[in-house]
Amino acid sequence: MDRLTPEARSANMKAVRRKDTAPEMLVRRLLHAAGYRYRLHVRKLPGSPDIVFPGRRKAIFVHGCFWHGHACRAGRPPQSRQDYWLPKIARNQDRDRQSVEALKTLGWDCLTVWGCEIRDTEYLLENFRQFLGPAKDSLI
Ligand SMILES: [Zn+2]
Repeated sequence: MDRLTPEARSANMKAVRRKDTAPEMLVRRLLHAAGYRYRLHVRKLPGSPDIVFPGRRKAIFVHGCFWHGHACRAGRPPQSRQDYWLPKIARNQDRDRQSVEALKTLGWDCLTVWGCEIRDTEYLLENFRQFLGPAKDSLI
């Protein structure tokens, strides 16, 4: 049934992943313009946070509303095949909660940016400044 070669399948998966990280790219650009410097996908931390500020001991997760079950329109589960989707989404939510808890135990603070928020640049900037404190070399 599955005729994709391993190479093609892997290219497929990458394309999916790339699409998923578009909001993350936007968040990164905004943070950078606002003067914040960060590291990406730190695997040694619980949940491998998307954007990490080691000096401040703060981490940002960028979550798609659907996959992580955000309580917004985009996060609404589909009407069909709920027996398939709901447990999958619930597992992601559990994992997210556990990552934040584990990070907290290690002395890290976390902020989650949702896909539905990324168009509101002003809101995001305000949120980042509150969460991270003042930046060093802001360009905006
Ligand atoms: Zn949302």
